[in-house]
Amino acid sequence: MLYYPDARNFHPRTKAALAGFGRCESCGGPLSSDRLRCVKQSRHWGIWIAEDSALEQIELLMGEEKRRNKNRQRAERRMEAMSQLPGVHRRSDLKAIFQAQDGRCFYCGVAIDQKSARRDHLEPLNAARSSNWPSNIVFACFPCNRDKSDMSPNAYWRLIEKRLGSAWVKEQKARNAAVTEIARQLTKQRKAQLTAHHLTAARSATRRKRRAAEAGR
Ligand SMILES: [Zn+2]
Ligand SMILES: [Zn+2]
Repeated sequence: MLYYPDARNFHPRTKAALAGFGRCESCGGPLSSDRLRCVKQSRHWGIWIAEDSALEQIELLMGEEKRRNKNRQRAERRMEAMSQLPGVHRRSDLKAIFQAQDGRCFYCGVAIDQKSARRDHLEPLNAARSSNWPSNIVFACFPCNRDKSDMSPNAYWRLIEKRLGSAWVKEQKARNAAVTEIARQLTKQRKAQLTAHHLTAARSATRRKRRAAEAGR
């Protein structure tokens, strides 16, 4: 017999599966599949699993649950790290960069479409030089995005060189020159806009202060 007092935080799919095996701890009644609560008494918490034959399936479910949590935590950490980086880019910047790449992975050149393409930070999120400026964003195929992970761009190019040869990498870098140039220009625009925005904000703050001082006199 198993007991899962913390089941309320599980993924809906896990909950639904557990409900089928479980019974209310207090009254032995059936459980609702969405909340794992006793169907008869909503204040009854906790479940027990009545059938030993279900144990193997439950272990599988628990493994899935753990993996899901780990993936979610990793994604959350990445989002957090990304939000800490300096720089901004717009959706239109991403579109321009994607178009400049001509439907190919920035690193290995394999064909990618909008759906399969992964947004990749050239300087990885944990690097001191990393940023969210357009010049640090490229599109990669899923394997490249996964394999590059925390590598610097140079380290990853060396890896590609081993796979595809130095001549190929040289060609690919020449193809990427147009992408880099567009991203550089977009970055310049975004930086200028940000500066202009800060200047405007600073000026209106000064005006507000002056007006407040005049009103106080
Ligand atoms: Zn009950
Ligand atoms: Zn690739």
